[in-house]
Amino acid sequence: MNMNHHSKERTLVVIKPDGVQRSLIGEIIKRYEQSGLKMIAIKMLLPTEEMIESHYSVDPDFKKKVGTKAIESYKEAGDKPPSDDPETVGEGVMNRLKNYMTCSPVVAMVWQGAHAVELVRKATGTTEPRTSDVGTIRGDYVLDSYSMADSDGRAIRNLIHASGNVEEAEKEIPLWFDKKEIIQYKLVQETILYDVNLDGLLE
Ligand code: GDP
Ligand code: MG
Repeated sequence: MNMNHHSKERTLVVIKPDGVQRSLIGEIIKRYEQSGLKMIAIKMLLPTEEMIESHYSVDPDFKKKVGTKAIESYKEAGDKPPSDDPETVGEGVMNRLKNYMTCSPVVAMVWQGAHAVELVRKATGTTEPRTSDVGTIRGDYVLDSYSMADSDGRAIRNLIHASGNVEEAEKEIPLWFDKKEIIQYKLVQETILYDVNLDGLLE
């Protein structure tokens, strides 16, 4: 299969410090593994604040976007945002993320397969665990909300980072993994997932 085949799509997953501390590493990996995706890299590490800044700056508008969203959630909760400037609020979110993401080790992984980005996001659930669907990892295993995180002045604890789109994934992966840490190999199940002719199964 050529390198541009659908089955070669890749995504970055990081089990955040709360996922590790809640003993959910195995459960989280199981969810992605059972979907048919292939793990092609994994490691445990303690991120630095610089890594977290680079990671969330892959989208140059991250602070502005996240600041705009955060201002809305403050207003929805009937609270006054710390500032009306999205960049300033976004800078605050970034600082809280740095604090959260460097408090304990994380587990970083690359998953590969058809629709990897979309399927991982679907299994992970939406950003705020309070409103994530039942059946998703965030919906099933954690209870945090924007309102609680904002009123306590901390990052929302949502167990996982998963790339938002293919472009983001391809920019994020090299920040976390050297090329030599990513292994190209065949899983036997790929025959039944992707083969067109399905020959070679019967003896
Ligand atoms: P994700 O891709 O689902 O993790 O969400 P984003 O990429 O939009 O945001 C990255 C991280 O920023 C999230 O995991 C949250 O910790 C934080 N964040 C995102 N949106 C908001 C928001 O509206 N309010 C607050 N307080 N934090 C947010
Ligand atoms: Mg994101």
